[in-house]
Amino acid sequence: MEYIKSKIRDVYDFPKKGIVFKDLTTVFKDPRALHIIGWDLSQLYRDKGVTKVVGIESRGFIGGSILAFELGAGFVPVRKPGKLPADTLTASYDKEYGKDVIEIHRDAITEDDIVVIHDDVLATGGTMAAAVELVKRMNPRKIYVNFIIELSALEGRKLLPADVEVTSLIKY
Ligand code: AMP
Repeated sequence: MEYIKSKIRDVYDFPKKGIVFKDLTTVFKDPRALHIIGWDLSQLYRDKGVTKVVGIESRGFIGGSILAFELGAGFVPVRKPGKLPADTLTASYDKEYGKDVIEIHRDAITEDDIVVIHDDVLATGGTMAAAVELVKRMNPRKIYVNFIIELSALEGRKLLPADVEVTSLIKY
């Protein structure tokens, strides 16, 4: 884990002043770090019977795909509005200024699925809370939530429902 931490790049004042952006591109471009991420994420869910990994656009697509591949599960994208071609379910959530919307294909998850929803970073939790709401509407057997990085001070976990198990590889 120290190796992965050493590869995370802190970018100050991105995307705006006062934010320290946890840049994972410097982790993903490093073959050893990428391998460790895939292994460590999958170890969290080895015995859980996971059938689908949902990745949140766009940084959640990278770790989500790797996790799905490692677990032998399918991959499902959650995307910004208007990007998914077939019938979708939509959820909106509050951002600092106004609302944001995410979508998932209506037929992406079934009641037999055991789902991990993955994103790269847990900040305020708004994005993941909306993603959980979307997946819940398809009534899978179980929902897990996973992040590579959790920014604990922002208390994003508090926005997530108590009945989903939340894991993160690295906490700040
Ligand atoms: P949240 O506030 O939890 O809804 O986060 C919104 C999205 O922005 C998530 O997909 C995070 O990946 C990303 N994000 C928020 N804050 C940061 C940060 N400090 N560093 C990197 N990504 C961030």
